[in-house]
Amino acid sequence: MNKPTTNRPTFIPKMYCNLFGHHYQVTKKVTYHVKEYTCSHCKKQLTTNSNGRLIELTPKFKEINAILERIHASRMERSKKKTLASSIY
Ligand SMILES: [Zn+2]
Repeated sequence: MNKPTTNRPTFIPKMYCNLFGHHYQVTKKVTYHVKEYTCSHCKKQLTTNSNGRLIELTPKFKEINAILERIHASRMERSKKKTLASSIY
């Protein structure tokens, strides 16, 4: 591995991430298990896939997450009604 030279004029965020790793923050909760993350340094985006692994958030996965979010929201609505009904018995 190359030693980083001192006083490098362009210390770009991407290089920071290469040296110290990305600093991901949750930017969106899609479902209980699927979240979207953004690196606070280089703005790289990740998401959780169906296996629970972190993968790059491509436009395709953004689309999938949008659908998941809608399904999740409607499920939440339904389960709310279900718990109301079951509490009667
Ligand atoms: Zn980064």
